[in-house]
Amino acid sequence: MKAEILCVGTELLLGDIVNTNAAYIAKELANIGIDVYYQSVVGDNNDRLKSSLNLAFSRADIVILTGGLGPTYDDLTKETVAEYFHKEMQMDEDSLKGIECFFKKLDRPMTENNKKQAMMPAGATIFPNAHGTAPGLAVSENGKTAILLPGPPSEMKPMFGESVIPYLMGFSNKVLVSHNLRLFGIGESQVEDTLYGLMKNSTNPTIAPYAKTGEVTLRVTASGDTYEECETLIVPVIKQIKDALGQYIYGIDVANLQTAVVQALKEKNLTVATAESCTGGLVSQRITQVPGASEVFGCGVCSYSNAIKQAVLHVSGDTLEKYGAVSRQTAAEMAQGVRRISGADIGVSTTGIAGPGGGSKEKPVGLVYIAIDSEKVSKVIKLNLQRGRVDDRENIRHMSAQHVFQMILDALKSY
Ligand code: ATP
Ligand code: MG
Repeated sequence: MKAEILCVGTELLLGDIVNTNAAYIAKELANIGIDVYYQSVVGDNNDRLKSSLNLAFSRADIVILTGGLGPTYDDLTKETVAEYFHKEMQMDEDSLKGIECFFKKLDRPMTENNKKQAMMPAGATIFPNAHGTAPGLAVSENGKTAILLPGPPSEMKPMFGESVIPYLMGFSNKVLVSHNLRLFGIGESQVEDTLYGLMKNSTNPTIAPYAKTGEVTLRVTASGDTYEECETLIVPVIKQIKDALGQYIYGIDVANLQTAVVQALKEKNLTVATAESCTGGLVSQRITQVPGASEVFGCGVCSYSNAIKQAVLHVSGDTLEKYGAVSRQTAAEMAQGVRRISGADIGVSTTGIAGPGGGSKEKPVGLVYIAIDSEKVSKVIKLNLQRGRVDDRENIRHMSAQHVFQMILDALKSY
């Protein structure tokens, strides 16, 4: 089966935005064994879109389009595809309800033109949009299928995983099984370097790396006649990956680091408490995002000021004066303090300089100490998280929390 990617948007043609959708979709299609020989971009124009569709369908069975599903007059992808397939546009009541619901949740009025997003070519398969208003859709005629997806990557990507891949699998009688290995503490390029041979030579299962904010996910996907056959193909590959990168893998099919931490604490029947300075509660916020966190988490202190570090956590005045709030010693005393006052098995702490101001030569922006204190493991690590980018502050806070979670998981190995 051959597919082609056609991205719609004058912004793309002018170079105002980068076509990340095409790259994403191409990778996903390669993963499930669908060949892509062409990708193209066309502006928001009915005639030119039609001629692009003609050309694409002369070469491919499936054309995947992104962009132009919005409510405004320049969003014309759906209407043009309907014309191309000679389909009437009809109101899809389920989509309309979904859009109304979306506006209600945001507490924003829904305008008349938003209804346009619920108009669908007759007979279309609809893909719900959990992250925006425009549903995606697929239309077929005479063995040719157009799949239309919203332009914003934050809407398109989840829709692709949740709806489009299962839809595409319907074109084959194969079963597809994936497992996601989650890694922290290693970059995407190092992962690729380590697994180069394995990745290059694996066709079933395939191994695809995805990187995002300090983490790498390796998705191992097999196709076969049955679920069991896929699992049998996957097991030895996961073992090979574990042999090469086991120390960085914090979980398989686990949503994120905090979920792995909560699960691991539950398994060992242990509790944790947090004392946070530069992360301002981010660590406790992420722990409490996980359902069932109350079994393992009882207390988080957001101790931004020195006065609170002293009064609540019992960090000594001498330590603060001699070494400063951002220091190995303060971090250690914060973790000890919160463990003592909460009665938790494990205390963790963060103290650092998130910037952009407040850095010095000795203590630059991005310097962060994180500590853990427990019966079996007590240690402090020093990090330098500055990357020199505009979003450094958020990234420093995010990465500090990531390291705290990793530190807890490491410590739990001693229990
Ligand atoms: P909207 O409802 O926001 O109008 P839409 O489906 O009509 O969505 P477009 O109007 O074409 O999509 O694009 C909306 C935004 O989505 C763009 O401004 C851009 O940020 C992003 N976007 C669109 N196409 C792409 C693409 N190919 N790659 C990356 N981002 C894209
Ligand atoms: Mg639009």
